[in-house]
Amino acid sequence: MQPLALSAVDLVAAVQQGELSAVACAEAFFDRIAAVDGRINAFLAVNREAAVAQAAAIDARRKAGKPLGPLAGLPVAVKDALCTADLPTTCASKMLEGFRPPYDADVVARLRRADAVIVGKTNMDEFAMGGSNENSAFGAVHNPWDLTRAPGGSSGGSAACVAADMAPVAIGSDTGGSIRQPAGLCGITGFKPTYGRISRRGLVAFASSLDQIGPMARSAADCALLMETIAGHDPGDATSLAEPVPTYTSLLNEPLQGLRIGRVAEHFGAGLDPEVAAGVEAAFETLKAAGATIHDVELPHAKYGIPTYYLIAPCEASSNLARYDGAHYGHRAEPGKGHRAETGKGYRAETGRGGGGAGEYVGGFDSPLVEMYCRSRAEGFGPEVKRRVMLGTYALSAGYYDAFYAKALRVRRLIQRDYLEAFTKVDLIAGPVSPTPAFKLGEKTGDPLAMYLVDMYTVGTNLAGIGGISFPCGFTAGGLPIGFQLQGPALAESLLLRAAHGYQQLTDWHTRRPALPA
Ligand code: GLN
Repeated sequence: MQPLALSAVDLVAAVQQGELSAVACAEAFFDRIAAVDGRINAFLAVNREAAVAQAAAIDARRKAGKPLGPLAGLPVAVKDALCTADLPTTCASKMLEGFRPPYDADVVARLRRADAVIVGKTNMDEFAMGGSNENSAFGAVHNPWDLTRAPGGSSGGSAACVAADMAPVAIGSDTGGSIRQPAGLCGITGFKPTYGRISRRGLVAFASSLDQIGPMARSAADCALLMETIAGHDPGDATSLAEPVPTYTSLLNEPLQGLRIGRVAEHFGAGLDPEVAAGVEAAFETLKAAGATIHDVELPHAKYGIPTYYLIAPCEASSNLARYDGAHYGHRAEPGKGHRAETGKGYRAETGRGGGGAGEYVGGFDSPLVEMYCRSRAEGFGPEVKRRVMLGTYALSAGYYDAFYAKALRVRRLIQRDYLEAFTKVDLIAGPVSPTPAFKLGEKTGDPLAMYLVDMYTVGTNLAGIGGISFPCGFTAGGLPIGFQLQGPALAESLLLRAAHGYQQLTDWHTRRPALPA
């Protein structure tokens, strides 16, 4: 039995029935990581010893006739934005280098309780800010389909490790497309559930009103399997939903007959690569042949998605990342040359800001304390994170708040309403995930706006708080995967998974693997 070739559903069944030992399964994936990750850079930490020991304990329990969890022996790679008590959690930032959280994220704890085996932590854009994985402080990830290209981001390591068979499934997070876009560019299936469906406790916060964790796998069926374990209410996350979790895997096979699928004309406008457009059109035809009906719908405010997202997300980020000041959290700058404490110039600010009197603020802008904050943040954060913090701080500052942040919130509401209106006419909305296939590493790093535009089809889902799934619907002539996206109303997880599964029963794009010799 070759574990690398099996679906997650089959791997778990094989372990539970004793046809495959959890140890053999784990070893096969660790061997694969050792053989290929030097070229991909998908992992920031690998957990071989502990994972194999855990797998051995699972095998022993099976031999003793004890019950096993629903993900028994399943290797899972976890994005480095989720806290793991036994492995460092860096968010691919120098700011958190070497940080070991005192607890597991709720999702990680659920995986462990289900007897999944955490194989390691995956590379990502720093603090999940980016769409190419090039913003990692620990090196870019290479797309397994073409090592000179980006895997997408920010969950690029999670997407690449599944595409390259280094793990059968992975966990990602999606604030504006970070599960769906890398899944699309790496030819795998990525699912961003409704906001609140999965607990965010222990997910390092980027933009809290948009962040959502989700599964990344080779198929919708494998995503459904993971969802049954990772979704559900968590009293430790006030925004997590109390709704019961359906048995997604048992609902996958309902036919697509009569499913009403919306098509948005704006999704086929300027910037869309013709090969991507052709792949997406072909997927509409496949869904039609399966009995779905296609209807034109409008999302009139979708064109404001990018500016709205790129105000709200940086505003929330600037606030969330204020905690990394070298004192409360994160990297602390060493006192160095020119440091106040060293030059002995005293604590009183000389800028006039700290001026005397009762209740004076002794930490003026050039006090050693503030200097330590500034230098810690200057050293710990990379350029994109700094750009977001500056954008967000500016947009939240007195005088600009109403013009930028408050206005973006109002547009967000209009975008939400567009979806509510559209979902009175159709069950799901379909279209491309990204305007182009995987782009070259370095191609967009000098132009932040070009990088932001990559998210034009994905940010609406997060702004509306709804769910979306992406999966491959073809390949370009150059052999790069083309992604298809389905978006659904709030809590339509089952329907999204079922529609993607239905499509995957009729096509074999999701079964293709890159030629990446060991
Ligand atoms: N690419 C988007 C950004 O840079 C989305 C990131 C995400 O979903 N975490 O913000």
